[in-house]
Amino acid sequence: METDPIIKVRNLHHKYREGDGFKEVLHGINLDFERGSIVIIMGPSGSGKSTLLKLIGAQLTLQSGNIEVAGHKLEGASPKMLRKIRRDIGFIFQSHHLLGSINVCQNVQLPLAFDERVTAESSRERALEVLRTVGIADQAWKKPAHLSGGQKQRVAIARALVRNPAIVLADEPTASLDEKSGREVVQLIKKMSKSLGVSVVLVTHDNRILDIADRIIHLVDGRLKEE
Ligand code: ADP
Ligand code: MG
Repeated sequence: METDPIIKVRNLHHKYREGDGFKEVLHGINLDFERGSIVIIMGPSGSGKSTLLKLIGAQLTLQSGNIEVAGHKLEGASPKMLRKIRRDIGFIFQSHHLLGSINVCQNVQLPLAFDERVTAESSRERALEVLRTVGIADQAWKKPAHLSGGQKQRVAIARALVRNPAIVLADEPTASLDEKSGREVVQLIKKMSKSLGVSVVLVTHDNRILDIADRIIHLVDGRLKEE
């Protein structure tokens, strides 16, 4: 069971409405992701990377084909099951998506807010623990605006990990960073993946970060090419 792929994508097609018709942006994707591995999906802007990631993360409704995430089929899944699947996935975006009105620790606590078993105190403890593992606990009581771009992305990594997900999906996590901070962020993603056994799917068009990958896949015009 544990050697089963963590994510399976089967004959996945996706189209968006455009004008009076549709534009197909994914043309039959088939992919297996191994547990604990870091897979980078490369491709030019507009090739369908974000669409693929959103479909895997159950953020977009499946139209055609199937995806299985950690043993759960997305096809035909109830809204309740889809919420559960989403909560077991950590997301990291191009820009950090932190809320400016609350401090770093509270931002990291947000994904725990819907969990009835978590108290205010255990939530804060858990957030601080993850902030320590990503090396930024000393910033916990600051508002995000006082942090550098790289530090904010570290906080976003902590927030993605706070629920102990089996899978982290990262959409262009270095795109708004300079080269040095970008490298630090992907090195951290790699370190966390390897120490926690988290499977990472990272999409990017930044070829300076490819060395952290266990596997590199190219997406061109909605079709895959393996390296
Ligand atoms: P990438 O992340 O590789 O840049 P996307 O998955 O964001 O690619 O987009 C793939 C194609 O689908 C692009 O041509 C984009 O314009 C189009 N697209 C993306 N989202 C939408 C949407 N919500 N409605 C219509 N077209 C979209
Ligand atoms: Mg994109």
